[in-house]
Amino acid sequence: MSAIDDLPPLRDIVARFDLSARKALGQNFLFDLNLTSRIARAAGPLDGITIVEIGPGPGGLTRALLAAGAERVIAVERDQRCLPALEMIASRYPGRLDVIHGDALQIDLAPRLAGSPARIIANLPYNIASALLVSWLTVEPWPPWFSSLTLMFQREVADRLYAAPGTSDYGRLSILTQWRCTGGRLFDVAPTAFVPPPKVTSSVVHLVPRPNPEDCDRRSLERLTQATFSQRRKMLRSSLRQLIETPENLLAELEIDPTRRAETLTVADFIRLANRLPRQPATLAL
Ligand code: SAM
Repeated sequence: MSAIDDLPPLRDIVARFDLSARKALGQNFLFDLNLTSRIARAAGPLDGITIVEIGPGPGGLTRALLAAGAERVIAVERDQRCLPALEMIASRYPGRLDVIHGDALQIDLAPRLAGSPARIIANLPYNIASALLVSWLTVEPWPPWFSSLTLMFQREVADRLYAAPGTSDYGRLSILTQWRCTGGRLFDVAPTAFVPPPKVTSSVVHLVPRPNPEDCDRRSLERLTQATFSQRRKMLRSSLRQLIETPENLLAELEIDPTRRAETLTVADFIRLANRLPRQPATLAL
């Protein structure tokens, strides 16, 4: 593909605005138009759809989303240097690109959507990718304000999302993801597709929120996964002691062998256990 719009090529934009990639901001840019269009298409037809993009950078994926017909893109970018490049795109697509300058971990996007559903599509900055995903998976109320998540992760993180019990990748991210979403990995992207190339392969993942995940207090589930996976090799009767005085009694009631380790429990087992933990009150702001 030689062009998707009449804006200058991305390499020219990066040179014009001096957007040398910064590691601290997880900047690995995509210039390949076939790939950015493929990621945009992976989220399904975009006509009339609002997209939230985290980390547009010089705007490669943003341009693919707009060229694919997205009605509106709300893009959150932390690096001020990228803003002039994004303004050029906003002028090319009047009224369709809103750029928010700030830290995606600190911004609540739900109020900006005024109740209309949005899809999240992003080539995530790797240093905060897991934290962003956890923030979306633990949103309340559920079903959330987004109808799907199409995200680029390092492959080793993507593998964790749909890991099965008993595998070394299975952990906190697997349980949160599988409790609240369906979906999985779509395709891998080689390091050579990025500028600069990262050390590892990446994967694009597509997740769809379950409309009715099993009832579970997400704070209890988080405390449970934290306590049991931070001591992965310990038996449940021992790792659960951080949370309850007599784990043997609860495990017996739920017919879970107390000598099992966290990584052997299914997501359903975690939910049953979390639902029996004493609830902790939400922290009050003083
Ligand atoms: N979307 C572009 C692409 O595909 O070429 C850039 C992707 S690059 C992997 C990640 C982007 O996220 C960078 O532009 C970086 O500046 C931005 N970023 C890093 N931390 C951020 C944060 N906390 N909030 C918002 N954007 C952030």
